[in-house]
Amino acid sequence: MKKLIIANWKMNPQGLKEARRIFSEIKKVASRMPRVETIICPPCVYLSLFGDSISKRRLNLRLGAQNVFWENPSAGGGAYTGEISAQMLKNLNVKYVIIGHSERRKYLGETDEMINKKIKNALNNNLKVIFCIGEQERDIEGSYLYFIKNEIEAGLKNIPRKLFKNLIIAYEPIWAINKKGKDADKPEDVFQISIYIRRVLLGIMGKELSRSIPILYGGSVEPENAENILKEGGVQGFLVGHASLVPRDFNKILKIAQSVK
Ligand code: PEP
Repeated sequence: MKKLIIANWKMNPQGLKEARRIFSEIKKVASRMPRVETIICPPCVYLSLFGDSISKRRLNLRLGAQNVFWENPSAGGGAYTGEISAQMLKNLNVKYVIIGHSERRKYLGETDEMINKKIKNALNNNLKVIFCIGEQERDIEGSYLYFIKNEIEAGLKNIPRKLFKNLIIAYEPIWAINKKGKDADKPEDVFQISIYIRRVLLGIMGKELSRSIPILYGGSVEPENAENILKEGGVQGFLVGHASLVPRDFNKILKIAQSVK
Protein backbone atom coordinates (compact mmCIF):
# COMPACT_ATOMS: atom_id res chain seq x y z
CA MET A 1 0.00 0.00 0.00
CA LYS A 2 1.31 3.47 -0.91
CA LYS A 3 1.86 5.89 1.96
CA LEU A 4 -0.69 8.68 2.06
CA ILE A 5 0.64 12.10 2.98
CA ILE A 6 -2.06 14.72 3.19
CA ALA A 7 -1.48 18.47 3.37
CA ASN A 8 -4.19 20.31 5.29
CA TRP A 9 -3.58 23.99 4.55
CA LYS A 10 -6.53 25.02 6.75
CA MET A 11 -7.39 28.74 6.17
CA ASN A 12 -4.03 29.50 4.53
CA PRO A 13 -2.36 31.13 2.65
CA GLN A 14 -4.09 34.48 2.20
CA GLY A 15 -3.19 35.09 -1.46
CA LEU A 16 -3.19 33.27 -4.80
CA LYS A 17 0.46 33.93 -5.50
CA GLU A 18 1.59 32.29 -2.30
CA ALA A 19 -0.81 29.36 -2.84
CA ARG A 20 0.71 28.80 -6.29
CA ARG A 21 4.24 28.96 -4.90
CA ILE A 22 3.62 26.40 -2.16
CA PHE A 23 1.77 24.10 -4.54
CA SER A 24 4.44 24.15 -7.24
CA GLU A 25 7.29 23.54 -4.77
CA ILE A 26 5.49 20.54 -3.32
CA LYS A 27 4.52 19.26 -6.76
CA LYS A 28 8.14 19.14 -7.91
CA VAL A 29 9.05 16.72 -5.13
CA ALA A 30 5.76 14.82 -4.85
CA SER A 31 5.90 13.82 -8.50
CA ARG A 32 9.20 12.01 -7.87
CA MET A 33 7.86 9.84 -5.01
CA PRO A 34 6.36 6.67 -6.54
CA ARG A 35 5.64 5.04 -3.17
CA VAL A 36 3.76 8.05 -1.81
CA GLU A 37 0.38 9.46 -2.74
CA THR A 38 0.48 13.16 -1.88
CA ILE A 39 -2.85 14.90 -1.40
CA ILE A 40 -3.04 18.69 -1.14
CA CYS A 41 -6.13 20.10 0.54
CA PRO A 42 -6.13 23.87 0.02
CA PRO A 43 -9.02 26.19 0.91
CA CYS A 44 -11.80 25.64 -1.65
CA VAL A 45 -11.20 29.03 -3.34
CA TYR A 46 -7.87 27.69 -4.64
CA LEU A 47 -9.06 24.28 -5.84
CA SER A 48 -9.76 25.43 -9.38
CA LEU A 49 -6.18 26.75 -9.69
CA PHE A 50 -4.71 23.30 -9.36
CA GLY A 51 -7.26 20.88 -10.80
CA ASP A 52 -5.84 20.85 -14.34
CA SER A 53 -2.20 20.52 -13.41
CA ILE A 54 -2.64 17.30 -11.46
CA SER A 55 -4.75 15.33 -13.87
CA LYS A 56 -1.86 13.08 -14.95
CA ARG A 57 -2.01 9.77 -13.08
CA ARG A 58 1.74 9.28 -12.85
CA LEU A 59 2.19 12.41 -10.76
CA ASN A 60 1.08 10.70 -7.52
CA LEU A 61 -0.39 14.02 -6.58
CA ARG A 62 -4.07 14.52 -5.86
CA LEU A 63 -6.35 17.31 -4.72
CA GLY A 64 -8.51 17.18 -1.62
CA ALA A 65 -11.12 19.53 -0.19
CA GLN A 66 -11.45 20.53 3.46
CA ASN A 67 -15.23 20.26 3.48
CA VAL A 68 -18.28 19.18 1.50
CA PHE A 69 -22.02 19.45 2.06
CA TRP A 70 -24.22 16.43 2.79
CA GLU A 71 -26.93 17.15 0.23
CA ASN A 72 -26.85 16.98 -3.53
CA PRO A 73 -28.43 19.94 -5.37
CA SER A 74 -31.35 17.72 -6.41
CA ALA A 75 -32.53 17.60 -2.77
CA GLY A 76 -33.28 21.33 -2.56
CA GLY A 77 -32.60 22.92 -5.91
CA GLY A 78 -29.12 23.87 -4.67
CA ALA A 79 -30.57 26.25 -2.09
CA TYR A 80 -27.75 25.79 0.46
CA THR A 81 -26.03 29.15 0.64
CA GLY A 82 -22.30 28.95 1.19
CA GLU A 83 -22.07 25.20 0.75
CA ILE A 84 -20.13 23.12 -1.76
CA SER A 85 -21.48 19.94 -3.34
CA ALA A 86 -19.60 16.73 -3.99
CA GLN A 87 -20.30 17.15 -7.69
CA MET A 88 -18.67 20.60 -7.73
CA LEU A 89 -15.54 19.09 -6.19
CA LYS A 90 -15.45 16.25 -8.68
CA ASN A 91 -15.75 18.71 -11.56
CA LEU A 92 -12.55 20.34 -10.29
CA ASN A 93 -10.68 17.03 -10.28
CA VAL A 94 -10.88 16.74 -6.48
CA LYS A 95 -10.58 13.12 -5.34
CA TYR A 96 -10.43 13.41 -1.56
CA VAL A 97 -12.27 15.31 1.15
CA ILE A 98 -11.51 15.86 4.84
CA ILE A 99 -14.57 15.32 7.05
CA GLY A 100 -14.92 15.58 10.83
CA HIS A 101 -11.86 17.73 11.52
CA SER A 102 -11.77 18.78 15.18
CA GLU A 103 -11.58 22.48 14.22
CA ARG A 104 -14.86 22.22 12.32
CA ARG A 105 -16.42 20.30 15.20
CA LYS A 106 -15.29 23.03 17.61
CA TYR A 107 -15.77 26.27 15.67
CA LEU A 108 -18.55 25.35 13.24
CA GLY A 109 -20.53 23.14 15.61
CA GLU A 110 -20.31 20.06 13.40
CA THR A 111 -21.95 17.17 15.20
CA ASP A 112 -21.48 13.43 14.77
CA GLU A 113 -24.81 13.37 12.96
CA MET A 114 -23.75 16.04 10.44
CA ILE A 115 -20.43 14.31 9.95
CA ASN A 116 -22.18 11.00 9.34
CA LYS A 117 -24.38 12.60 6.66
CA LYS A 118 -21.36 14.20 5.00
CA ILE A 119 -19.39 10.95 4.97
CA LYS A 120 -22.35 9.04 3.53
CA ASN A 121 -22.93 11.55 0.76
CA ALA A 122 -19.26 11.96 -0.12
CA LEU A 123 -18.75 8.18 -0.34
CA ASN A 124 -21.92 7.83 -2.38
CA ASN A 125 -20.44 10.37 -4.79
CA ASN A 126 -17.24 8.37 -5.06
CA LEU A 127 -15.02 10.81 -3.19
CA LYS A 128 -12.35 9.37 -0.90
CA VAL A 129 -13.13 10.43 2.65
CA ILE A 130 -10.46 11.34 5.18
CA PHE A 131 -12.50 10.88 8.36
CA CYS A 132 -10.86 12.67 11.32
CA ILE A 133 -11.27 11.39 14.85
CA GLY A 134 -9.41 12.00 18.10
CA GLU A 135 -9.78 12.71 21.78
CA GLN A 136 -9.50 16.06 23.54
CA GLU A 137 -7.38 14.60 26.30
CA ARG A 138 -5.86 11.27 27.20
CA ASP A 139 -7.07 10.37 30.66
CA ILE A 140 -5.38 7.60 32.65
CA GLU A 141 -8.69 5.80 33.19
CA GLY A 142 -8.80 5.20 29.45
CA SER A 143 -12.19 6.76 28.72
CA TYR A 144 -10.65 8.38 25.62
CA LEU A 145 -10.79 4.94 24.03
CA TYR A 146 -14.59 4.89 24.38
CA PHE A 147 -14.66 8.41 22.99
CA ILE A 148 -12.73 7.31 19.89
CA LYS A 149 -14.93 4.24 19.46
CA ASN A 150 -18.09 6.34 19.71
CA GLU A 151 -16.79 8.88 17.21
CA ILE A 152 -15.99 6.17 14.67
CA GLU A 153 -19.30 4.34 15.17
CA ALA A 154 -21.34 7.54 14.96
CA GLY A 155 -19.52 8.76 11.85
CA LEU A 156 -19.96 5.47 10.02
CA LYS A 157 -23.50 4.67 11.17
CA ASN A 158 -25.79 3.07 8.55
CA ILE A 159 -23.28 3.42 5.75
CA PRO A 160 -23.39 0.50 3.29
CA ARG A 161 -20.28 -1.65 3.61
CA LYS A 162 -19.52 -1.51 -0.08
CA LEU A 163 -18.75 2.23 0.28
CA PHE A 164 -15.96 1.69 2.81
CA LYS A 165 -13.40 0.97 0.09
CA ASN A 166 -12.99 4.76 -0.18
CA LEU A 167 -12.61 5.41 3.54
CA ILE A 168 -9.46 6.62 5.29
CA ILE A 169 -9.23 7.23 9.04
CA ALA A 170 -7.09 10.12 10.31
CA TYR A 171 -6.38 9.76 14.02
CA GLU A 172 -5.69 13.27 15.31
CA PRO A 173 -5.53 13.65 19.08
CA ILE A 174 -6.73 17.22 19.61
CA TRP A 175 -4.14 17.91 22.31
CA ALA A 176 -1.37 17.26 19.78
CA ILE A 177 -2.66 19.48 16.99
CA ASN A 178 -0.85 22.67 16.09
CA LYS A 179 1.90 22.26 18.67
CA LYS A 180 5.62 21.99 18.18
CA GLY A 181 6.75 18.62 16.85
CA LYS A 182 7.96 17.46 20.25
CA ASP A 183 4.36 17.55 21.52
CA ALA A 184 3.17 15.08 18.90
CA ASP A 185 1.92 11.73 20.12
CA LYS A 186 4.58 9.10 20.87
CA PRO A 187 5.10 6.43 18.20
CA GLU A 188 4.35 3.62 20.68
CA ASP A 189 1.05 5.23 21.69
CA VAL A 190 0.10 5.82 18.05
CA PHE A 191 0.80 2.11 17.50
CA GLN A 192 -1.51 1.03 20.34
CA ILE A 193 -4.27 3.30 19.13
CA SER A 194 -3.93 2.21 15.52
CA ILE A 195 -4.50 -1.38 16.66
CA TYR A 196 -7.48 -0.26 18.72
CA ILE A 197 -8.98 1.68 15.77
CA ARG A 198 -8.61 -1.37 13.55
CA ARG A 199 -10.46 -3.46 16.14
CA VAL A 200 -13.29 -0.93 16.19
CA LEU A 201 -13.40 -1.03 12.36
CA LEU A 202 -13.47 -4.83 12.50
CA GLY A 203 -16.65 -4.66 14.56
CA ILE A 204 -18.25 -2.34 12.02
CA MET A 205 -17.23 -3.81 8.68
CA GLY A 206 -15.64 -7.24 9.18
CA LYS A 207 -12.14 -8.58 8.79
CA GLU A 208 -11.27 -8.07 5.16
CA LEU A 209 -12.51 -4.50 4.79
CA SER A 210 -11.21 -3.34 8.16
CA ARG A 211 -7.71 -4.50 7.23
CA SER A 212 -7.75 -2.49 4.03
CA ILE A 213 -8.64 0.90 5.53
CA PRO A 214 -5.60 3.22 5.74
CA ILE A 215 -5.12 4.71 9.21
CA LEU A 216 -3.18 7.98 9.33
CA TYR A 217 -1.78 10.00 12.17
CA GLY A 218 -2.10 13.79 12.46
CA GLY A 219 -0.98 16.23 15.15
CA SER A 220 2.25 18.24 14.83
CA VAL A 221 3.92 15.97 12.32
CA GLU A 222 7.22 17.56 11.30
CA PRO A 223 10.37 16.31 9.58
CA GLU A 224 11.91 15.63 13.01
CA ASN A 225 9.26 13.15 14.20
CA ALA A 226 7.87 11.76 10.93
CA GLU A 227 10.27 8.86 10.51
CA ASN A 228 9.76 7.36 13.97
CA ILE A 229 5.98 7.67 13.87
CA LEU A 230 5.86 6.10 10.42
CA LYS A 231 8.23 3.27 11.34
CA GLU A 232 6.80 2.45 14.76
CA GLY A 233 3.29 3.90 14.81
CA GLY A 234 1.56 1.29 12.64
CA VAL A 235 0.08 4.02 10.43
CA GLN A 236 0.03 4.28 6.65
CA GLY A 237 0.66 8.01 6.45
CA PHE A 238 0.01 11.46 7.86
CA LEU A 239 -2.39 14.35 7.88
CA VAL A 240 -0.07 17.35 8.13
CA GLY A 241 -1.21 20.84 9.16
CA HIS A 242 1.27 23.67 9.76
CA ALA A 243 4.27 21.86 8.24
CA SER A 244 2.38 21.46 4.95
CA LEU A 245 2.60 25.23 4.36
CA VAL A 246 6.39 25.14 4.46
CA PRO A 247 7.40 23.27 1.28
CA ARG A 248 10.92 22.52 2.56
CA ASP A 249 9.48 20.75 5.63
CA PHE A 250 6.61 19.05 3.84
CA ASN A 251 8.94 17.81 1.11
CA LYS A 252 11.23 16.33 3.77
CA ILE A 253 8.21 14.44 5.15
CA LEU A 254 7.44 13.16 1.63
CA LYS A 255 11.02 11.92 1.24
CA ILE A 256 10.84 10.17 4.62
CA ALA A 257 7.58 8.49 3.58
CA GLN A 258 9.17 7.38 0.31
CA SER A 259 12.13 5.83 2.16
CA VAL A 260 10.26 4.01 4.98
CA LYS A 261 9.29 0.46 3.93
C1 PEP B 1 -4.48 19.20 11.52
O1 PEP B 1 -5.09 20.13 12.02
O2 PEP B 1 -5.03 18.43 10.72
C2 PEP B 1 -3.08 19.03 11.87
C3 PEP B 1 -2.56 17.86 11.80
O3 PEP B 1 -2.41 20.16 12.25
P1 PEP B 1 -0.88 20.30 12.73
O4 PEP B 1 -0.03 19.41 11.87
O5 PEP B 1 -0.57 21.74 12.58
O6 PEP B 1 -0.87 19.84 14.16
